[in-house]
Parts: sequence; structure tokens; C-alpha cells
Amino acid sequence: MARQTAATGSQSALREANSARILATVRQYGGITQVELAAATGLSPATVSTIVKQLLATGEVETRNTVRSGRRAQLVTVAHRAGMLVGVHIAPRALRIAIADTGFDILASQTLPLPNDHRLDTTLDRTALLAMELLDGLGSTASEVLGVGIGVPAPVDPSTGTVRNTGLMPGWSDIDIAQVVEARLQRPVAVDNDANLGALGEARFGAARGVQDALYVHASYNTSAALILNGAVRAGAHGTAGEIGHVLADPQGPICRCGSRGCLDTLVGARALIESLRISRGPVSLTDLIDLAIGGDAGCRQIITDAGAAIGTAVANLAVAFDPQLIVVGGELAQTETLLLDPLRVAVERRVLLNSATPLEVRRGELERRAPLHGALALASELTSVPGAR
Ligand SMILES: [Zn+2]
Repeated sequence: MARQTAATGSQSALREANSARILATVRQYGGITQVELAAATGLSPATVSTIVKQLLATGEVETRNTVRSGRRAQLVTVAHRAGMLVGVHIAPRALRIAIADTGFDILASQTLPLPNDHRLDTTLDRTALLAMELLDGLGSTASEVLGVGIGVPAPVDPSTGTVRNTGLMPGWSDIDIAQVVEARLQRPVAVDNDANLGALGEARFGAARGVQDALYVHASYNTSAALILNGAVRAGAHGTAGEIGHVLADPQGPICRCGSRGCLDTLVGARALIESLRISRGPVSLTDLIDLAIGGDAGCRQIITDAGAAIGTAVANLAVAFDPQLIVVGGELAQTETLLLDPLRVAVERRVLLNSATPLEVRRGELERRAPLHGALALASELTSVPGAR
């Protein structure tokens, strides 16, 4: 009797493990046939068939008819529940797209590199095409999309939906981003800047979950920040709240892209960081600089440490003004972890003395570079009546 129970127990454990493996593989591929599932998991076609039937019965997966290599095929996909959300992050050097269900489980995602100074109209074309491609891979179409959220690396004017300052993103200011993508996908689209969406991502799904008042710092190709007040991201009257990249850091500094002199961005923006390596290393990318710093290169570590201190001073000023509970740091530079965060913390501790009884915590973002993408999904959900939306 005991032996029989043990055998039954181990069999059900095996079935559960196989089931979890199949579900994970379906998530990984978005949409996959049963033949492909057997090949990807190493399970027999019969086992795959049995488990898929069980997962269909519990509503965890769905099947959709499609065409593969000219033949009819049945795709197993994650259950889409009540429609899908599309999140897009147009970062300075990468285009990230994710399709999620209304429970924010990511069903498919892709990242493409973008050339330096890419044209916005071309990138929006690629965005629409890639979204259609990912939906197609899920055996789905744009008609099932409830909303599209798009993050761009510049402040967006809430009244016009366009990038406000012509100097920040040359060639971007005349384009109504939401309208262009809406025309292509025939679905509602909302646009915001990537720091605000990074903040929204961390507030909904990451390091600032449940925190009422927080600052999110997006230390990337350009540095910006976003304010979470009373649990919601505040973009400001013109969409530029938290743009610490353009606060004064050096009154004698060079002229910034925005037209002002000596902005923080002229010290810690990717161009400035890379420029300071030109004599010793020649042309390198921001990714090279970060990798070298993580690998122990003394000069590159110094650049990141100095940037952390400069960003910390600007963040500290903002923190004195807004009195947050928490500061979350995300963006590419945060990959260097303590190299950036330690001097940033020191600068914050030095300035934020009003509330010295409860030290202000500086935490690395949990969603890392993908925080704006997750925020874009949350923004997409606001276009719909998805339960739990901001
Ligand atoms: Zn500026």
C-alpha cells in the first residue's frame, strides 16, 4: 500500500514537472506546435499531447489554427484571457517590444538594435511591423490588442503627444507618435517618456511596488528622473517633470542639446562619458564603457563613479524638494551596480539632512533596462478597462 502511494506520488510529481516544463516552453516561444514542443522539451509526442489536453482543460493554454511553412498547423499559446497589451520602448540604441496578456504575463518579446540617430518615422514603421510579426507568432492579430503603450527617450507633451524640445531629438518634434502607430495598427496608442514609464514599471511590478512617494532615476544614454507621488507618476504640466538631465550642474559648462548651458547631461550623458575616453581608448560605445567598468578597468570605473556622484547631487536636490520614501535607480548605467550606486548614495546622504532620522534608501531597480517596457505595458492597460490599472 505504502509502495503504491509512493509510486503514485512520484508519478504525479513527474506529471507536474513535465506540465511546468511545457508551460515554460510555450511562454518562451509564445506560440508553438505540439511537434515543436516535443522537440524542444525532449518529451514524447504522446506525453506532450496528454499534458496539453490537461492545460487546455484548466484554461492555462489555448490552441489556434495557423499556417506553418505553407501547411495548416495548430499552435499552442498561453491563454490570452481577455485580449492583449503591446508595450514598446524606443530606447536610444534599441527597440524593445513585448506582447502581454491582461495579467501582464509576457507572451512574446523581441529587442532589435537601432543605429545611432535613427529616424523616428522609420523606427515607428519597424515598430508596427514587429508588433504584427509577434502577434502573428502567437497565432493572433492586432484586433485582439486592447492598447499599445510606447516609451520614447525624451519628454512628451501631454497636450500634443509629441516630443517637446526640438534640440533633444532632432527630427522627432513634428511627429505625432501615437497617431502614426494608431494608423498602422488600428488600435489605441499612448506615448510617454521612458523615465516616466520606468517609474511606472518599477511602481507596478518592481522595486517601488506599494511605495506612495518615490523618485525613479533613469541613468541611461541621457539621465532623467520621474516622480511617483501618491502612488502615481506625475509628468508635470508640460511632461518635463523630473528631467534632471537638464538641471544646472556646471555654470561654466558647455551648451546642452536643450539650449541651456552646463546641464547635468553635458557631464553624464553618453556623449560626455565616451568623450572622456577618446584620448586613452579612442571611440567606444556606452555598452563598451559599462562592460569595461564591470570588468575592472580603472579609467572606466572612475568615469562611472564620477557620474554617480554628479547624478547623486542632482537627485539629492530633487529629494530635498519632494521628500520621497525611496529612490530607485534604473537604466543602463545601473548595471554597474555599486560603482554607480555607492557615490550616488553618498551624495544623497550628504544633502538629505532634513530627515536624517530615517535615512533615504537608494535601491537599484528590479526590472533593470526593461523597466520602461513594463511601464509601457502598464500604460497600454490604462487605455482599456483592465482591472487593476493605475
Ligand atoms: Zn540641457
